[in-house]
Amino acid sequence: MATQYKNLINGKMVDNGEWLDVVNPANEEVIGQVPACGKDDLDKAVAAAREAFKSWKKTSFEERQAACMAISGAIKENAEELYRLLTSEQGKPHDQAKGEIFGAAGLSAAQATFKLEDEIIEDSDTRLHRSRRVPVGVVGGIVPWNFPVMMAIQKIVPALMAGCTIVLKPSPFTPLTTLRIAELIADKVPAGTVNIITGEDSLGPLITSHPDIDKITFTGSTATGKKIMEGASADLKRITLELGGNDASIVLPDADPKKVAEQLFWSSFSNAGQICVAAKRIYIHEDIYDELAAALVEYAKTVKVGDGSHQGTGVGPIQNKKQFDRVCELIEDAKDNGYKFLVGGEVDPSGSGYYVPITIMDNPPEDARIVAEEQFGPVMPLMKFSSEDEVIQRANNSDYGLAGAVWTGNPDKGVEIAEQLETGTVWINEYLHLSPFAPFGGHKQSGFGAEYGLEGLKEFTYPQVISVKKDNVPA
Ligand code: NAD
Repeated sequence: MATQYKNLINGKMVDNGEWLDVVNPANEEVIGQVPACGKDDLDKAVAAAREAFKSWKKTSFEERQAACMAISGAIKENAEELYRLLTSEQGKPHDQAKGEIFGAAGLSAAQATFKLEDEIIEDSDTRLHRSRRVPVGVVGGIVPWNFPVMMAIQKIVPALMAGCTIVLKPSPFTPLTTLRIAELIADKVPAGTVNIITGEDSLGPLITSHPDIDKITFTGSTATGKKIMEGASADLKRITLELGGNDASIVLPDADPKKVAEQLFWSSFSNAGQICVAAKRIYIHEDIYDELAAALVEYAKTVKVGDGSHQGTGVGPIQNKKQFDRVCELIEDAKDNGYKFLVGGEVDPSGSGYYVPITIMDNPPEDARIVAEEQFGPVMPLMKFSSEDEVIQRANNSDYGLAGAVWTGNPDKGVEIAEQLETGTVWINEYLHLSPFAPFGGHKQSGFGAEYGLEGLKEFTYPQVISVKKDNVPA
């Protein structure tokens, strides 16, 4: 029988006797079961969080920091077990899973240093006018399947640092590592402050509309983000939404194709392309297009697609069947329209596991589905451009606005272009670098609000202004 992983409610690992299967995308075998929660379980978790909030909101910065450092320590001390489990449920190769686990431990430690100081607006003979931040209350966190641990931590830790308590729902596709972490931290954080419950997608709207939850922090697709906003509107819950992206990378003619190819490759194919900020549209100047395309193909042929637990695998399977079908559909659409493939494009239907070969496409038109939509898979469309104005216009021609990149021999030129891109983050000559100290959030339909940095922490708080009239004491 597959291992059963329990939920964390009010400091205890519990189940309700109903179970959901969790599948390894590398071989489609059931590797674990988690509780299938509904309204009653959610009510219990929310009640625990509400009760715990009464005392947690009064804790000092040092107490909060100690709890978050304990979370960081528990993850770090158990890193090997956790990254192996993560690979088995998510599919990413071991080295990338290790990066996510250590990244989550590091993120907890970094976020545990965040302190929101009071702001003195006026301190005169007649008035003390002070602005402070107070926790919003009970937070509902909803997480996707591409970086399940990182996304859980980036919701749990700032919630605790702000003085909030949280009920977190992992994706039904990838709940195992998060529940193992729940078990590891159950006695390290006060009962009820962190609750982690699992269920199908249908548990999500119950969280969004729960009357005793004050804020939703969500990472996932733009389509679901819109439903969350709608659901949260009934009682005006605070919301933070980190949503989809269709990030453009722009390669200028002064970039050396040999130096850029490998980095550009991984900006698209890390985690099998299932990264919100992966490079999903690659615009290459016509002067270097052929040379860079050839270098990318040459590099792609050296990368092994396979089971992430096998040594030497660079690109693992797609995480789940639904996403696998969607990526296959985009490839079929490209074929139906006669677009050209430089490498890949042939999905082998025999065998188990959700494998899509590394696929690079040659200059499809702007309205091709593979260019216009977020593919979230190992398929990279290369497009030719001839002028800066043209490429900026094409890069901005999207409802998304998450991130982007410019590759150039002249970093000042890169900054000039970056400042014209309509996205929350732009990298110049690097990719996927996110600092816990800088706000991360999407423009346009890629998000609402921000995570990370003090700006992210503030989203778990309300401002409260206290104004004392010093020369009007009625006594
Ligand atoms: P998804 O929107 O399908 O699911 C995300 C989470 O929402 C899951 O836990 C799911 O169970 C839950 N959910 C589903 N329907 C819901 C509803 N009606 N109400 C409330 N919750 C609901 O997303 P996904 O397929 O798991 O993840 C892929 C998407 O996430 C991609 O679009 C990707 O770009 C985006 N993403 C964004 C970021 C970011 O930081 N901007 C990071 C990672 C992933």
